Amino acid sequence: MQTERLLETFLAMVQIDSPSGDEGAMAAYLIAWAKRLGLDWHQDATGNVVVNVPGCESTHSDCLVLSGHMDVVPPCSGVKPVVTGSGSDRVIHSDNTTVLGADDKAGLAVILEAVETALEEKLARPALRLLFTVEEETSMAGARGLSDADLDAQFAITFDHTGRQGVIIHQAPSYRKLRIQVPGISVHAGIAPEKGINAITLAARMIHQLPWGRLDADTTANVGTVHGGKATNIVPDAVVIEAELRSHNIQRLDSLQSQVLETVRDVIQEAFTGRDLLENPIEITEIFTAYSIEPSHPALHLLEKAMRVVGVEPQRIRSNGGSDNNIFFHRGLPGVVLTAGYQEPHSLKEKVALAELETAVKMTCQVFREFSQSPFGA
Ligand SMILES: [Zn+2]
Repeated sequence: MQTERLLETFLAMVQIDSPSGDEGAMAAYLIAWAKRLGLDWHQDATGNVVVNVPGCESTHSDCLVLSGHMDVVPPCSGVKPVVTGSGSDRVIHSDNTTVLGADDKAGLAVILEAVETALEEKLARPALRLLFTVEEETSMAGARGLSDADLDAQFAITFDHTGRQGVIIHQAPSYRKLRIQVPGISVHAGIAPEKGINAITLAARMIHQLPWGRLDADTTANVGTVHGGKATNIVPDAVVIEAELRSHNIQRLDSLQSQVLETVRDVIQEAFTGRDLLENPIEITEIFTAYSIEPSHPALHLLEKAMRVVGVEPQRIRSNGGSDNNIFFHRGLPGVVLTAGYQEPHSLKEKVALAELETAVKMTCQVFREFSQSPFGA
């Protein structure tokens, strides 16, 4: 591993603008990197960059995916990285006017340095496929757009989490977004209030009757936005509530969703007795679906072994967020999410310690060695 090259690569990438949906320049950088190393690459119609790295000659045929996303959350144009400290204590942050973009360019930098090191030092390794995706932050459209052939591998490691090295995200929840259109009837609030139906009070009744917050060890629910009303002298005829439900337990999520549907329908029906109603007041979108990797999966054991060899204590944890890994799993590719070493992502204080990136590269090189020893598919 070359620490200065790792730092340079990271600094170069964070200075490439790549908001979600506009990752072209970032893709070009990664393609140029693959060409420089003589690797087989292609870019799919969605914009994802896929690079294949052959395994060493003596290894089995299982393929390991390494993945990270190219897009960055706003404000992210014109990032000016600042390096503070010296030697191995260096920390990289932004100039406080943008995010740093270490989410997920730290993940990309770790992958590039680990692969370049593996090629230079001819490290034992299985066949590797690098998946650099677009639009993870907004919709995971990149991961969804990958071809079956590009997802045809035995295990995936996605570098896209905050926190210390050693974290292994082996479970993540399902996440459903709800958009509830609460109807009402507009009238003059002073002259004929009895002829109206107030959509804001109906919305308040629904919100009050439903459970929110952390509902059990597996499940959370949140009302995020409420929009409606025009003026104090008008009984409002429409409110839109946006909410979300998350759970690791799909049955629990389904029953919670039914509870929301029933409550919304009951409140509307009671207010609108005898009148025509909107067909379906609720729009539900499942943004991602829960996954859970078998605790005995051989790849988990190899990964933990690799971590211990480089002095990192593995810790399996459940995340309550989603990532491309949710999409991979449901398209038949099991995998985990590891930390990319960044801290305070999605904020102007986002930063990453160079030492964290170095440890991640060392660990990834050790992963190559361990995963080359034996097939790791379940
Ligand atoms: Zn991310």
